[in-house]
Amino acid sequence: MKYDLTVIGSGPGGYVAAIRASQLGFKTALIEKYPTLGGTCLNVGCIPSKALLDSSEHYHNALHNFKAHGIDITEPKVNMGQMIARKADVVKQNVDGIAFLMKKNKVDVYTGVGSFVNKNTIKVTKADGTEETLETAKTIIATGSKPASLPGIEVDKKRIITSTEALELKEVPKHLILIGGGVIGLELGSVYSRLGAKVSCVEYADSIIPTMDRALGKELQRVLKKQGMEFFTSHKVSGAIAKGKEVTVTATDAKGKEVTFTGDYCLVAVGRRAYTEGLGLENIGLKADERGRIAVNDHLETSVEGVFAIGDVVRGAMLAHKAEEEGVLVAEYMAGQKPHIDYKLIPGVVYTWPEVASVGYTEEELKTDGRKYKVGSFPVRALGRARAAGDIDGFFKVLADAETDEILGVHIIGPRAADIIAEGVIAMEFRASAEDIARASHAHPTFTEGMKEACLAAIDNRPLHM
Ligand code: FAD
Ligand code: NAD
Repeated sequence: MKYDLTVIGSGPGGYVAAIRASQLGFKTALIEKYPTLGGTCLNVGCIPSKALLDSSEHYHNALHNFKAHGIDITEPKVNMGQMIARKADVVKQNVDGIAFLMKKNKVDVYTGVGSFVNKNTIKVTKADGTEETLETAKTIIATGSKPASLPGIEVDKKRIITSTEALELKEVPKHLILIGGGVIGLELGSVYSRLGAKVSCVEYADSIIPTMDRALGKELQRVLKKQGMEFFTSHKVSGAIAKGKEVTVTATDAKGKEVTFTGDYCLVAVGRRAYTEGLGLENIGLKADERGRIAVNDHLETSVEGVFAIGDVVRGAMLAHKAEEEGVLVAEYMAGQKPHIDYKLIPGVVYTWPEVASVGYTEEELKTDGRKYKVGSFPVRALGRARAAGDIDGFFKVLADAETDEILGVHIIGPRAADIIAEGVIAMEFRASAEDIARASHAHPTFTEGMKEACLAAIDNRPLHM
């Protein structure tokens, strides 16, 4: 078969690239080694984790919050089998949806491992060992990433697990030890903490979610602590050993003292590594760097003309929506358009409750850059909608240029922050000032009013409801 474009990997980068390429008239093939499409995101990432987060949140609310709302129920129980089965069904609906989209967009799907024979010939090796060869003018590598571990820690997938196994547990752990207080640790830690596990988070940095605006990590740690999680920041994990049903994790604290933690499960969540195994990069003269990533230029082309790479397998945030934007960019670039991505405006979200969401510069970055800025903050608890919902933790923080009032960063922790951050992204895409947002009508009572109020605070500290 001859194609204008072959995409290797069907995650949000790959399948979106295939759809956009097809929309633009390219004859497109998509190769995926697993039987279902959608990659990490749909199968073992964004979607299943959010399904479990939602289920566990219902349980948590039934257990802790229904009473205050005047709803008396007999004590709810966790049915782990049903919760995991529901998650699997949610995944199925989503991956089937991608298969439908491929048909609708006339993208030919090949199931098997894709590897380069040369830059215009891709071999597909199927599970039964048979091979098929595709001729292609251009290729996009969208092979994603896999969980990383630490030297000295062997993930046995039973007691010492990664996110993939954490999405499939058959029981609620008694004591779950998180190695890493980043996004995966805190999201999956929240799931099991809400379901009744004792959860201890051991984090190397001096704060959780250390790459986000520091104020967010501080508030999130305070709230999650209130929910029952315990935190050991400035602790560098050096080992984990499983023996029978017990796991012992070893770490060194800030003073250099060795500390051990014993639980029944340990989740290794210390980042992910770009994945290029079996791709035959050597056959086209490409080499992954020490973190497994493929180097690309501004329009995501590798050093081999006509071979592009997108998503987790290249530099930048490992996020589904970042991969999607890159897929669209490559397809449009191939069509002779001039697409552009502003990487600073890719939002980051942590789906704990309260949710955490961020876009643009952090306060720490502005300080380092020596940029003059104003800060406008507004507490969630001052919103009527928040009090009605009984969700009062968190704040809105808007950073604006001291002279021009242009919004430079939006950092939110609070209910529905994941959705509200879109307002910050749009505002910044259009280079809005804090005053632009402050003068826009926000429906009452909504959580979005926090954005308006934080912008009023940023202009000259004149919020209306505080
Ligand atoms: P992937 O989604 O990793 O897809 C790559 C695909 O390529 C895979 O299906 C793989 O099987 C296939 N492949 C690899 N090699 C070959 C080959 N040689 N031949 C054929 N196929 C091959 N991001 C968010 O934005 N929001 C979230 O809420 C979120 N939650 C997450 C939760 C968890 C638990 C995890 C692990 C990740 C989460 N992420 C989230 C990150 C997100 O899943 C990734 O950033 C995203 O999936 C990357 O997309 P991708 O297309 O680059 O690669
Ligand atoms: P992460 O980079 O978010 O967090 C890893 C944490 O582990 C860091 O805080 C780091 O300081 C800590 N760490 C590293 N070595 C350590 C050690 N020796 N001891 C103790 N702590 C150590 O990585 P993650 O949570 O594994 O997530 C991987 C990727 O998946 C992220 O890039 C993220 O973007 C993506 N993801 C996104 C979402 C989302 O968007 N909501 C959800 C899950 C995953």
